[in-house]
Amino acid sequence: MACVSFPYDAPVSQTLFDRASLVTPGGVNSPVRAFRAVGGTPRFMVSGTGPYLTDADGREYVDLVCSWGPMILGHSHPEVIAAVQEAVARGTSFGTPGEGEVALAEEIVARIEPVEQVRLVSSGTEATMSAIRLARGFTGRAKVVKFAGCYHGHVDALLAAAGSGVATFGLPDTPGVTGAQAGDTIVLPYNDLEAVRTAFAAHPGEIACVITEASPGNMGVVPPLDGFNAGLKEICAANGALYISDEVMTGFRTSKAGWFGVDGVRPDLMTFGKVMGGGFPAAAFGGRADVMAHLAPVGPVYQAGTLSGNPVATAAGLAQLRLLDDAAYAKVDAVSAEIQALVSEAFTKEGVAHTVSAASNMFSVFFTDRPVRNYEDAKKQEAFRFAAFFHSMLAQGVYLPPSAFESWFVSTAHDTQAVERVAAALPAAARAASEATA
Ligand code: PLP
Repeated sequence: MACVSFPYDAPVSQTLFDRASLVTPGGVNSPVRAFRAVGGTPRFMVSGTGPYLTDADGREYVDLVCSWGPMILGHSHPEVIAAVQEAVARGTSFGTPGEGEVALAEEIVARIEPVEQVRLVSSGTEATMSAIRLARGFTGRAKVVKFAGCYHGHVDALLAAAGSGVATFGLPDTPGVTGAQAGDTIVLPYNDLEAVRTAFAAHPGEIACVITEASPGNMGVVPPLDGFNAGLKEICAANGALYISDEVMTGFRTSKAGWFGVDGVRPDLMTFGKVMGGGFPAAAFGGRADVMAHLAPVGPVYQAGTLSGNPVATAAGLAQLRLLDDAAYAKVDAVSAEIQALVSEAFTKEGVAHTVSAASNMFSVFFTDRPVRNYEDAKKQEAFRFAAFFHSMLAQGVYLPPSAFESWFVSTAHDTQAVERVAAALPAAARAASEATA
C-alpha cells in the first residue's frame, strides 16, 4: 500500500475496533470492512438517515456504499421502517410458510420475466450455491464455468479467481477449498467468448452451467461488452448447459428488472440478494419452472433454510421493492451520473489518469485511461492512488468503499445537498490521488 496519512482520529471507533479484534478475526465480520486495503481505523457506524451515516465518534458522512448496494432508498426510509415495525410486532420467525414470502416471490416473478418460480434464501452466497447445485442436479454434469474477477459469494467452488475482497487482498485461490471442490470449476477471462467456446469444446457433455455476474461490480465495475451475455446464453443452449446470471448486485438496482431489464438476455437461472432484502438478510434464486421443479420437495435436489422467507426480512424487501418505480430509478440514475461527472472532472483537473466505469447507476473509478474489459485489465490500474483518495474523502465526510475494486452505490435519498458535499470534497481528494506514490 502507498504511504497514506490519516487526517483525523476516530478514538471511539478505534476503541471498538480494539475490542472487536480480541473476539473476532481482524475485528470484522466481512473482510473488506477492515480497511486493510486503505489502512487506518474502520469507522463503526451507529446510525443512518437518508444519504448519511453517523459514526461512533459523532461524524457524519455522505454514504456512497449504501451497505454494498441494498440501501437504494437511503437509510431508515420511513415506509420500510414502518413495514418492519409492523412485521416485527407480529413475531420474528415462525418456521412455517407465511403470506409475506408469497407476496415477495410474486413481486420478483412479476418484475423479472425469465423468473417463473423463485426460492427465497438468506444470503447471496446461499443463492449462488443453491443455483449451482440445482444446475448440476438438473443436467447431471459436474463442471462449472466462471469468470476471473466475478464474485459470487464465498461458495467453495466459486472462490477461484474471485473479485471483491479476494481481489482486494490479492489472496491466492483460497486455503480451505479442496482440490475436489475447486477441480470442477473452470475459470475463464471475462468478456472473452472465444475462451468459453474453447472450454466447451475441451469438455463435451461435462459443463453443467456458466455463471456470470450479469454486469460485474466486484473487480470494479466492468460491464459486459455488447453481445457477451447473449453469446453466453447461445453457447450454453447449444451445449445443453444452463446460463446462470448472478444479479445479487445488479438485481432491482440497475433497473426495475435489474440487468435483465437492460440487456434482455434470458437466463435459465438467476440469483438475487441485496436490494430485495431492504437491508435485511433476504436473497433468492429462480428461473425456468422446469428447472426449479427439480428442487425439494418437488424434485430430488435438496435445499433448505431455517430463516428462509423470514417474515421481517420479506416485509422489508417487499416494502422497498414496491417503492422502486420508474421515477425512483430515474432519480438514482441521475444522481449517479452527476457524481460520476464530478469525479471525472476533479481527476481531469489534477491530471490523474482515470476511467469512470459505469453500468447504469453502479460505477467505480479505475486509475488508468486504458480500457478495462476484464480482471487482468482492472489489476493494471494504479491502485496505489486509491488509499490517498479514500482517506481524503473520508476526512471530508464522504464514505467510499474501502477498496479500488468495488462498486460505488447511490440512492434515491442522495439529494442536492449530499451531492454538493461530495463535490466540495473531490478537489482535495483528487489532488491527494495525484500526489500519491506507489
Ligand atoms: N453475488 C454477487 C454478484 C455479489 O456481489 C455478492 C456479494 O457482494 C454475492 C453474490 C454474495 O452475496 P452475500 O454477501 O449476500 O452472500
